[in-house]
Amino acid sequence: MNSDRLVPHLDALGTTIFAEMSALAVATGAINLGQGFPDVDGPASVAEAAVDAIRAGRGNQYPPGIGVPELRQAIARHQLQRYAQVLDPDTEVLVTAGATEAVAAAMLAFVDRGDEVVALEPFYDSYRSTVTMARGRCVPVRLDPPDFRLDEGRLREAVTARTRVILLNSPHNPTGAVLSRSELDAVARVAIEHDLLVVTDEVYEHLAFDEPHIPIAKLPGMAERTVSISSAGKSFSFTGWKIGWVTGPAALVAAVRTTKQFLTFVSGGPFQFAVAHALDNEMPWVEGLRESMADRRDLLSDGLTELGLTVYRPRGTYFVTTDVRSVGWDDALAFCHALPQRAGVVAVPCSVFYEDPGPAERALVRWTFSKQENVLTDALTRLAAADLSPDL
Ligand code: PMP
Ligand code: GLN
Repeated sequence: MNSDRLVPHLDALGTTIFAEMSALAVATGAINLGQGFPDVDGPASVAEAAVDAIRAGRGNQYPPGIGVPELRQAIARHQLQRYAQVLDPDTEVLVTAGATEAVAAAMLAFVDRGDEVVALEPFYDSYRSTVTMARGRCVPVRLDPPDFRLDEGRLREAVTARTRVILLNSPHNPTGAVLSRSELDAVARVAIEHDLLVVTDEVYEHLAFDEPHIPIAKLPGMAERTVSISSAGKSFSFTGWKIGWVTGPAALVAAVRTTKQFLTFVSGGPFQFAVAHALDNEMPWVEGLRESMADRRDLLSDGLTELGLTVYRPRGTYFVTTDVRSVGWDDALAFCHALPQRAGVVAVPCSVFYEDPGPAERALVRWTFSKQENVLTDALTRLAAADLSPDL
């Protein structure tokens, strides 16, 4: 078959950098500080709840498309207890196959051919790809180091008559920025003025270290236009389970449900019961995770600083961004490809998260600190012993 006849936008999608870098880590036996996932599983009681559900035959057959009632109710309780947000679990909550499906289903629901989605750049990789699949266009609003703050003027410049959605992510992957109340107020002003939807990816809602995470749906005038996304993967350290959720007004949740039913239909039946248990019983564990992740943030950030990298200490997530020009490299991709051989460590080049990276963006490298302290220390020791000069 003539491969020219394959859909041209597949080229634009390419291969996700996380799969590529994890495969490189496996192939070289390197410590994987690339793809963000913990090396210790979440609470034992949650794993037990999943096993119990399987054994008891709960969720082994197709669960309801919207998600099992136990989980939807637990999500509604969590939003109420944590954020004083009142949700109807039957119409305003939808369970998805991770936040990844939630983002894809939302883009397919809300974006039409030629529509524009304004998103914070660097973009988490699935954003541009799913907007492309919906035949829309991602318009960047750049967050610049050292603080990666959102500038209202830039946001306003990005909005046009074709803008349909502002796609937010806070705490923000990869920069570790956490949008402050005044930055969120700016987004709300622009969204209300231009009558835009806001889709907000808050998978790191429980990993904000220095300032509280504020859901934009809580701001005046925003609940009616906001679709919020979260996931059990990051909060409870079960990234392989792929249980995510969407919350928002019934009409918007119904729209996402319409596309979701033809993506996966349903997923993760027994895990849904386990996540309901987690939301109801394991929030103290999540608090402990946040505290230990903050310590690991400091360990890795301080270690990389000592090695001579320019480090932008994150306020949330489990990633730290660095500029490798200070150690002589101007190309993050080349640096990340050399690193496993030179040092036995894998990291992710942030250049791939930009539409049109300039020299500064081309030199940004992301490292995850979602690993045990001894693994981070080992990685730092390897990096310190390695020859990282660019001209080998
Ligand atoms: N959004 C962001 C910002 C992420 O970092 C990730 C990775 N966990 C996802 C979405 C995907 O989440 P999930 O694994 O629940 O699909
Ligand atoms: N969210 C994880 C990261 O940013 C990766 C998830 C994935 O592989 N899609 O590293």
